[in-house]
Amino acid sequence: MFNHDELPGQHAVRYLRSKLRNVPDFPQPGILFKDITPLLADPRAFHITLDLLAERFIGEHVDTVVGIEARGFIFGGALAARLNASFVPVRKPGKLPAKVDRVAYKLEYGEAVLEMHTDSIPRGARVLIVDDVLATGGTACAAADLVRLQGGEISAFAFVVELDFLGGKEQVECHAKGSRVYSLMHFAAGE
Ligand code: AMP
Repeated sequence: MFNHDELPGQHAVRYLRSKLRNVPDFPQPGILFKDITPLLADPRAFHITLDLLAERFIGEHVDTVVGIEARGFIFGGALAARLNASFVPVRKPGKLPAKVDRVAYKLEYGEAVLEMHTDSIPRGARVLIVDDVLATGGTACAAADLVRLQGGEISAFAFVVELDFLGGKEQVECHAKGSRVYSLMHFAAGE
């Protein structure tokens, strides 16, 4: 239940946490998947999520929001509209129609590739990179590499969920020095 009489902030975040679903052993054994679809299905929860994210970055001069396929599009696109910023998708290989820049990065098992249209980021643009979940940080670092390749300046990263025990924040901060990492909800192992 959402109680309008309680102050926002903690109460709002507690409400959002109640809208996440843990799916054990997806997509492989041992992974506790944070499913955001119940949060998206609840108009109030989706609205609060966007408000809290936008509030954090409003007035900070974000030129471009970069969203990471696929769930980063959902939050990143809506956030870009709220921040009066442009939106740029970073996609899995073979999805973008025009000329692309690409970056390969290591996963726990094997390698992955991300792509962005070559003409996406104006030189010197201040960029906010958005995804739903920060786990080990590999995906966000690869997106940062694409932004920098085109001369963009990474001002911050924003996530709806951060899995604190995987060290993604340290990894991202180390890779993109000087940029901030902000997550709305934090989770410990098994939580
Ligand atoms: P990483 O590169 O390890 O930070 O992984 C981040 C990407 O994988 C994001 O695009 C997430 O959507 C997804 N991801 C990783 N772990 C989880 C998880 N436990 N639940 C949901 N999504 C996850």
